Amino acid sequence: MQHLADVEVYSVRTLREALELLSSVKGLRVIAGGTDLIVQLKTGVVPKTNLLDVSRVDELRYVRFEDGILRIGALTTFMEIYRSELVRRHAPLLAEAAFTVGSFQIMNKGTIGGNIVNASPAADSLPPLYALNAELKIVGPRGERFVRIQDFYKGYKKLDLMADELVAEVRIRPPGEGYVGHFFKHGLRRGDAIAVVNGAVLLRLSPEGIVRDARVALGAVAPTVVRSPSSERVLVGSRLSPEVMWRAAEAVVNDISPIDDVRGSAAYRRELSVNYVFMTLYRIARETGVVA
Ligand SMILES: Cc1cc2nc3c(=O)[nH]c(=O)nc-3n(C[C@H](O)[C@H](O)[C@H](O)COP(=O)(O)OP(=O)(O)OC[C@H]3O[C@@H](n4cnc5c(N)ncnc54)[C@H](O)[C@@H]3O)c2cc1C
Repeated sequence: MQHLADVEVYSVRTLREALELLSSVKGLRVIAGGTDLIVQLKTGVVPKTNLLDVSRVDELRYVRFEDGILRIGALTTFMEIYRSELVRRHAPLLAEAAFTVGSFQIMNKGTIGGNIVNASPAADSLPPLYALNAELKIVGPRGERFVRIQDFYKGYKKLDLMADELVAEVRIRPPGEGYVGHFFKHGLRRGDAIAVVNGAVLLRLSPEGIVRDARVALGAVAPTVVRSPSSERVLVGSRLSPEVMWRAAEAVVNDISPIDDVRGSAAYRRELSVNYVFMTLYRIARETGVVA
């Protein structure tokens, strides 16, 4: 265990102050809710370093719908996301995922920005964000830039983010009419569990039950969250029959590379991925009346 008594904490109230300090003080590390970082600092997973506490930068805590885009400030907690009418209306997949993040205590402290930057392949917000083609607004001394969530991750915990930059906002263009989707998660217990496998399936169906667009994202089965093009290819253009759903579910194994770890073996993760994708497709097919 690492003692943190001598860690200096710089506390700021505005984004401008945060960016000034990040540029001028070497080695500062951002802390938001602290639910990942404090554990990692204490256990020595992250080397001891001084902290920039942004948790009271209220201008980064919001959910808005403007110009056809759902905008979620990086400091918005999972409880706020879960309770947001705007998220439920425009990105219900994300609201479903938010409700599974740890306990109520973790939902009240943990932020979406922290979940994204911590970059765990098992992070629950990420499969919905991949399925929704979300974009990140990143701010730094050189101004702001926008990165697609898929492009933000360059490998296991390798990010397109400089030390003097912050993730400021998550942007989602609601997929629109005819899209139906769900998040899924398998943990080793019912509550407060990190995913052994998680994922999101989002489909656009024609009134006849033909899949016009398919987005299948999986977590905890590769160094980063992944989409499954193999599964999506099986789905697009086909009627959502039980046979097509099985083929699409089985195809996910082409796009994942799970490992053995404390939560499960690679083989178990492959089985879970296939079964959960099938169950989620089936759930969508039933809800939309494609199967009885
Ligand atoms: C008991 C427990 C249960 C948990 N259960 C789950 C779970 O079920 N699902 C799940 O996905 N996670 C879970 N977590 C992990 C954690 O709660 C989430 O990842 C949470 O969203 C992290 O947010 P935070 O604000 O606490 O991040 P912090 O710990 O403050 O920061 C995490 C990382 O992100 C960086 N950072 C934070 N905000 C920004 C920003 N805006 N810009 C740039 N860098 C930033 C920090 O420097 C740090 O590297 C759990 C954690 C605990 C302790």
